[in-house]
Amino acid sequence: MAKHQFQTEAKQILQLMIHSLYSNKEIFLRELVSNSSDALDKLNMLVLTDEKYKSVTFAPRVDIIADKEAKTLTLKDSGIGMNEEDLMNNLGTIAKSGTKAFLENLSGDQKKDSQLIGQFGVGFYASFMVADSVEVITKKAGEDQAFKWTSKGDGEFDVEKCERDGHGTTITMHLKEDEEEFYETHRITSIIEKYSNHIPFAIFMDKETHIPAETDDDGKETKPSSTEINNEQINKANALWTIAKSEIKKDEYNEFYKSISHDSQDPMLTIHNRAEGTLEYTTLFYVPAKAPMDMYRVDYQPGIKLYINRVFVTDDDKDLMPTYLRFLKGVIDSSDLPMNVSREILQNNKVLTKIKNTSVKKVLSELAKMAKKDSEKYDAFHDEFGNVLKEGLYNNFDNSNKESILELLRFNTLQSDKKVGIAEFAEKADQDKKEIYFITGKSTLGMLKSSPALERFKSRNIDVLVLNEEVDTIIFPTVTEYKEYKFVNVTDAKFEESEEEKKVEEEKSKEFTDITDEFKKALGDKVKKVELTFDLTDSPVCLKEDKEDPSYMMAQMMKQMGQGGDAPAPAPIMQINPNHELIKKLKESSDVNLVDDAAFVLFDQAKLYDGQELDDTAEFITKLNRIMTKAL
Ligand code: ADP
Repeated sequence: MAKHQFQTEAKQILQLMIHSLYSNKEIFLRELVSNSSDALDKLNMLVLTDEKYKSVTFAPRVDIIADKEAKTLTLKDSGIGMNEEDLMNNLGTIAKSGTKAFLENLSGDQKKDSQLIGQFGVGFYASFMVADSVEVITKKAGEDQAFKWTSKGDGEFDVEKCERDGHGTTITMHLKEDEEEFYETHRITSIIEKYSNHIPFAIFMDKETHIPAETDDDGKETKPSSTEINNEQINKANALWTIAKSEIKKDEYNEFYKSISHDSQDPMLTIHNRAEGTLEYTTLFYVPAKAPMDMYRVDYQPGIKLYINRVFVTDDDKDLMPTYLRFLKGVIDSSDLPMNVSREILQNNKVLTKIKNTSVKKVLSELAKMAKKDSEKYDAFHDEFGNVLKEGLYNNFDNSNKESILELLRFNTLQSDKKVGIAEFAEKADQDKKEIYFITGKSTLGMLKSSPALERFKSRNIDVLVLNEEVDTIIFPTVTEYKEYKFVNVTDAKFEESEEEKKVEEEKSKEFTDITDEFKKALGDKVKKVELTFDLTDSPVCLKEDKEDPSYMMAQMMKQMGQGGDAPAPAPIMQINPNHELIKKLKESSDVNLVDDAAFVLFDQAKLYDGQELDDTAEFITKLNRIMTKAL
């Protein structure tokens, strides 16, 4: 016998299982049945596709045996089984990124943590919620040696050789003192009906049937009552997605979702679709109520299982759905796909590509329907997944769906205090210019709304999309249009001026040359030039990127290639507002030192407004204090 240590993460999970989880223990059975179902799925495919498994018989079944005397509950499957190496890798470590993400999110607060754990699958280790010790006897299909794995969940496990008839896995749980309920057949059957009715394989259990006493015509007992034990199938074992929509109850959809996602909450949306005709396939997609914990990890677990004619092929293919829909859970099953090919070939398969494309369109249109029907529910969806959905807009990533994705997003705007859709926003835009203005910045919504760059929009009563999430600063510069409307960054927007206005501005410009020259002299290379602007109302100054500057274009290109970090930003143009009190007063001032200090302070102020860092904070404070002293 060889003793082994659990990997640290596995130990942590076990500790939680044993000490912190009091509610909803019954899910251990769902997790174990789901493992057995996966093991049967794997063997099914190998037997059909791999020469090596030709001689292996595939006789799928799961048996549950409750033994009150021995105080054990046993789960037995005729699936792929595990060899020694598999045992070491699978039942001693935790490989799933979701689990790792879960552990990183632990707060140490037992109550909160046990709620968290309900949100995702804990798999095999859940058996330790109800058992003091667990024994796994398993033999891999096509191999001769069986192995026994045992553990008390205390940080160690043993692996040794043993005997087992045929391939598959038998898990025996020695139940804890107060878990008697799990010996009861009716308790087990009701859990199976709830969570595992629609796994595609049959589950059997011994059931006691009460046979009433027989009596003759006088009422005299001729045969006493007795109990008979029958081995019965306790689940329906029909893959849910293969059943007609009209025959599936909402509860059944929800429980199936929970069994494939390991989520404890009902899904937000269920989309079941069967295509018949040139291409035959069925899809069943779910939108979870809450974002999976690993959604923003590179190594996220994809949520779609691919079946070919009810035979499971993979649940680990990130290309089955575009990344911006990676929160979806569900099943794709088609009879028109080749089973006996590698995953790479399957990925380039035209049929699969077509299924994927129609599926994406279907999901997007169902989301649009939900938005129309139930805006509150849709807002909840958008809060959870809006930022992921946005990724679909990046760099013409999915051109054919760009419009639908844009329509599914909800935006903050300058004039509205609740989020609005793009269609509604476009309707209110100037219908001659057909421009949609937007501002991006990694900042609070309030801060971005009071950006000087928006003042000319405020004074003209024009609404602007205010995009203050970090992803927005990456994504929206690549969005060019919505229908016949152009996306225009606020700094690029141009507005017509009347002859009258132009004349006033020309005169003002002459009047203010002294001060613009003085500002430029004071700031030197920090600014490209200093000019007047008539676009500001409340702020004295603002900064503008000079888009004609070759170094600006260079920096943009570098950014697009993902190398923006190192390129120095070209010097901006500083614009001053001649109608602002402060600028007017500075113009009248004869104190050159004061004007120079003011130039610096105003420049830094504008930088702060744009969310930039100051080059020299100490210098800023010194100059500011000097100005204040003079003012006092
Ligand atoms: P998950 O099933 O989510 O991967 P688990 O901790 O439940 O996580 O199981 C870890 C691994 O152990 C599985 O991925 C599988 O390879 C293996 N395993 C568990 N139960 C069985 C079983 N009944 N038959 C074969 N392999 C199993």
